[in-house]
Amino acid sequence: MYEGVLENIQKINDDIKGKNVTLLAVTKTVPAEIINRAILEGGIRYIGENRVQELLSKYDALAKKDELHVHLIGSLQTNKVKYIIDKVELIQSVDSVRLVDEIEKQAAKIGKTQDILIEVNIGGEQSKGGIPPETLPDLIRHVSICAHVRWRGLMCIPPFSASEEQLSQYFCSMRKLLVDNVNKKLDNIDSYILSMGMSHDYKIAIEAGSNMIRVGSAIFGNRK
Ligand SMILES: *Cc1c(COP(=O)(O)O)cnc(C)c1O
Repeated sequence: MYEGVLENIQKINDDIKGKNVTLLAVTKTVPAEIINRAILEGGIRYIGENRVQELLSKYDALAKKDELHVHLIGSLQTNKVKYIIDKVELIQSVDSVRLVDEIEKQAAKIGKTQDILIEVNIGGEQSKGGIPPETLPDLIRHVSICAHVRWRGLMCIPPFSASEEQLSQYFCSMRKLLVDNVNKKLDNIDSYILSMGMSHDYKIAIEAGSNMIRVGSAIFGNRK
C-alpha cells in the first residue's frame, strides 16, 4: 500500500498548476509515516483530518509543523473543540450556532482568533452535515459578532451519486452563495476560501471556482 504517493501528488500539482488552488491532502486512515513522506518528499503543506481522535493521535508525529496547515474537515462535536483549538488553522465543517459559540469560548480562552468555513449541505441530503443555503446569512451574522471566530468561506460535500452535470451545478451554486454573501459584507472575494472538490470531482469543482481541493484517495489510494 501507499506506493505512488509522490507521483500522485505530482499529477494533481500538474492539474492545478498556474491556478489559484490549494491542494489539501486528506489524511484520514493514513499513518503518520506516510503523511510525513507526503510532507517531506511531496511538498504537501495542507492536511485535513476528519476525526478529532485520529488527528490527536497523529499530531505529535507530524513533520514540519511550523510550515504545516492542519485543517479539521469532518463533523465536530462541541465537547471536542477544546482538544483541537490550539492545533488547527481552519475548521472547515462549522454548521451550527452552538458550535460557533463553543469555538468562540475555547478560542477566547487561549487568545486565538479561530478561522472557520461554514459547511453547506448543498444537495439537501438528510444524512449530511452542513446547513441549508437559506440559513447561511444568519450563521455568518452570528459569527461576525463573535470576537474570536472569523468567517473565511464555504465548504461542501455534494451527493455521492450526483452526475458530472449535477456536480457542476452544485459547485456553481456554492460559488454564487459565496459571492452573494461576501458582497453583502463589501469584502474582497479573493480573500475567501471555497473548499470543494475531492478525488473524483476536483476538476469540475475548479472549473466552478473552487480554490481549495480536498484530496484523499487520489493521493494515498483507496481507504479500507
Ligand atoms: C474523505 C474526505 C475527503 C477526500 O475524499 P477522497 O474521495 O478520498 O478524495 C474530502 N473531504 C472530506 C470532508 C472527507 O471526509
